This record gives sequence, structure tokens and C-alpha cells, in this order.
Amino acid sequence: MLKLIQKLVPRSPWIYRLNAGSCNGCDVEMATTALIPRYDVERIGCKYCGSPRHADLVLISGPLNLRVREKVLRVFNEIPHPKVTIGVGACPASGGCFREGYSLEEPVDQYIPLDVIVPGCPPRPQAIIEGVVKALDVWRKRLEEDTCCRF
Ligand code: SF4
Repeated sequence: MLKLIQKLVPRSPWIYRLNAGSCNGCDVEMATTALIPRYDVERIGCKYCGSPRHADLVLISGPLNLRVREKVLRVFNEIPHPKVTIGVGACPASGGCFREGYSLEEPVDQYIPLDVIVPGCPPRPQAIIEGVVKALDVWRKRLEEDTCCRF
């Protein structure tokens, strides 16, 4: 049974979206990859989920402003190991247009390690899908190295 699970899990990753104070531009593009058949991530075997506890990959948008920082970090810590993070847009990596604003101390990557960064403001859905494909490689490698922690 364990072997069957180990064989099937790498084929069906679940994605969770985490809004860290974005302007919603990136979130609209992420919604495209959930709703529009042409860009749907289900074509590459992924599925969006509503609970951080079920997630394998995390799409993070926004610069992690002071108002949401504590809540975002709490939700992020609920995602089980070995999660892979994808910073969507300029904000998670650098603060984007909010950089040096009053509501921001440091961008996301000072608090949450970003495994993959998808550039753009906002990035196109194709770029998000490319980021998810890169994240899948990282995630499958981590699963192989780290099977005992997950199962
Ligand atoms: S990268 Fe651009 S579109 Fe995305 S949340 Fe930041 S400001 Fe908005």
C-alpha cells in the first residue's frame, strides 16, 4: 500500500494560493490557471486545493506587508513538508511597486524561502505554468530524498 502511495503521489500535486498582500493582479492571473481550460494546471496533473494542510506547492503573491505578515506565516507553517514555494510576480521577490513603502519592512523571501520565482507584474498565465513545472521538478526531487517524512 505504501509503495502504491509513493508511486501515485508525485503524479498529483495540490496547489495552494497564498495572498501576502498583493494588489490582486497576480491573483487574477493565477485564477486563469485554475478556470480557463487553455491555461488550466490540471493539464499537467495539478489541482488547486482550499486547505494549506493538503498542499504540496504554494503560489505566493504580494510583498508580505505588515498587516498580513503574521497570518500569512501562520498559514504557511501549516503546509506540510516538503512544500515547494513559487513567488508569483515581482512583489514576493523584491517588494515590487510596494518596495520602500510604509507597509513593508522586507519582501517575502526574507521570511519564506522562495524555490521558484515567476517574474512579471503581473506575470502571464503561461509564465505561471512554467513556474509550476519548475516547482514540480523540485518537489519530486524532495519527495525522493525525503520520503520518510511524508509517509
Ligand atoms: S507583482 Fe504587480 S500585479 Fe502582482 S501583486 Fe505585485 S504589484 Fe500586483
